[in-house]
Amino acid sequence: MTVYFDHAATNFIDQDVIDFLAKELVNNNYNPAARYTSGIEAAFSIERSVSKIASTLGAKTEEVIITSGATESINTALKGIVFAPNPKHKRILSSSGEHPATTETLKFIEKQLGYTIDYCPLNNQGVVELNQLEEFLIAHDYDLLTLIQVNNVLGSVNPVEKIVKLRNQLRPNLPIHLDAVQSLAKIPFDFENLGIQLASFSLHKIGGPKGSGILLKSEDTRIEPLIHGGGQQNNLRSGTENPAFVATMAYVLEKMQRDFSRNNSHVVELKQHLISQLEQARINYQIISPQDAVPQIVSICFPELRAETLLNILNKEQIEVSIGSACSSKKSERNQVLKQLNLLNNLDQYVIRISLDKNNTKTEINNLVKNVKIALDKYAV
Ligand code: PLP
Repeated sequence: MTVYFDHAATNFIDQDVIDFLAKELVNNNYNPAARYTSGIEAAFSIERSVSKIASTLGAKTEEVIITSGATESINTALKGIVFAPNPKHKRILSSSGEHPATTETLKFIEKQLGYTIDYCPLNNQGVVELNQLEEFLIAHDYDLLTLIQVNNVLGSVNPVEKIVKLRNQLRPNLPIHLDAVQSLAKIPFDFENLGIQLASFSLHKIGGPKGSGILLKSEDTRIEPLIHGGGQQNNLRSGTENPAFVATMAYVLEKMQRDFSRNNSHVVELKQHLISQLEQARINYQIISPQDAVPQIVSICFPELRAETLLNILNKEQIEVSIGSACSSKKSERNQVLKQLNLLNNLDQYVIRISLDKNNTKTEINNLVKNVKIALDKYAV
């Protein structure tokens, strides 16, 4: 059976979620815009589900926009701010630790709309350098600050509270968007407490179906919709809503919240077990993820074996890990986040990402370490 260590790329859908979704698809499949009883009930169902979604994320019901995934949410947030009739500085501040969903959108905004994009560098812990961020904020007026919260390659966590404080002191009107895709189920998330204006999520990262995402937008933030049509979701995202899907999103989020502590303790134990097994096997390794990274994402370098070779060897044994980040289709490119850590001797090409989850076991970790050891004994240079 396949041993899966790539939960940051996508997560399994638990059987209870599949059962819930199947039941909803049978019983809750009307068009919520229809004026007859079944349609009105579908609209009520969406209202109830959205209210549950809002409450698990510390947001208000009116702040939730259902999307097809984080890529759409991020596009809507970034282009939505740019196209909205707000005062314009034609400048956006981001970081050099972002996912392609952000960087490629920013490139579009730069090329097509003449914006200037500033990228705050990361420090050696894989988070934005606060002094530099401060300098950018002092030097320029921006339309938006957009940052990843939990880095998908390293698991490092940007200090969002400090960043919001800086923004409040220096540029109180500057909206902040967070790519919070890797935050859910890994760190607590509370939209209102954070004091940010926009946040993007993908539910398949926490056991929901692919094609389900969320954009949170504070009530006082104006964005132009990306998708025009029948005016659903307060005109912010047109297209017939899927009440069964939205109900399942609420179900998955509530389950995530209920099991948060138990699942996190389990993953902390797994990470410790991984390290102790690597030590016991006397393997030459270096953990690249910073010490205070979320335990679910462990980037490890084996300096004697290229990551791509190791991935292929493990894959033959039905053990699935990733190189840096599997979220990009441009597999041959060097990973931008790892590149910035300035590892000696191009060691970034020797880094694999192991991403753990509640369903992984210590036996699976033993299996992984055993096979890494075999690979190193055979192919290490
Ligand atoms: N942002 C981060 C940090 C991610 O890890 C991903 C995952 O692929 C995305 C954005 C894009 O999410 P999706 O592909 O589900 O739209």
